[in-house]
Amino acid sequence: MRLILLGPPGCGKGTQAKLLSERNGLEHIGTGDILREAIRQQTPAGLRAHPYVEKGQLVPDDLVNDVVAERFNLNDPPECFVLDGYPRTLAQAVAFDQVLRQHYFDLTAVLLFQISDEEIIARVGERWSCPKPGCKATYHTQSKPPKVPGICDYCGTKLIQREDDRPETVKARLVVYHKNIGPLAGYYRVQELLREVPGHGAIEQVYANIMTILNEQAKRKC
Ligand SMILES: [Zn+2]
Repeated sequence: MRLILLGPPGCGKGTQAKLLSERNGLEHIGTGDILREAIRQQTPAGLRAHPYVEKGQLVPDDLVNDVVAERFNLNDPPECFVLDGYPRTLAQAVAFDQVLRQHYFDLTAVLLFQISDEEIIARVGERWSCPKPGCKATYHTQSKPPKVPGICDYCGTKLIQREDDRPETVKARLVVYHKNIGPLAGYYRVQELLREVPGHGAIEQVYANIMTILNEQAKRKC
């Protein structure tokens, strides 16, 4: 299988990508990981990306394209994969199609996670972290609550919400997502690759939704 996962930040697609990879023998390609690896190996694109990552800046879209292209042009390009966090824009999708064509790879499906902004904002509001250097424990009010609300179990420090988990930050990222997702989803829809996945509910439920969709797709192909 060759899959692309699309969805808003915080929709859980990273978790699903990991499960899909482990249970179906797919290589999990996250842009953060391959970016770090390219920098570590000092590839041409990695060297260009390094200053951005070092300064904590966003790596430009076309440079991310180059990092992904490099990963596919290694001696062992991933045959079966699940891409998570890429492409983010229509231009990146077009660039990635060129990479696929070079390898005569067809995509199996592009999964679009459907989840409301309200639920995303509610979900990130549940994440809390300990700010104490050397501790940095993380909590979740539903799945991993601290014993005393708002206080770190390990060191007693008052818990905070990280910059990434603040509602304002998440709302700003959602605005960017909504700007890009229309053209991106449309691009894959006309290729009949786009499948919408209900993204709310428990992790295993969402995984089951995905497998149902992929199995239906496999049947249709035969
Ligand atoms: Zn702590």
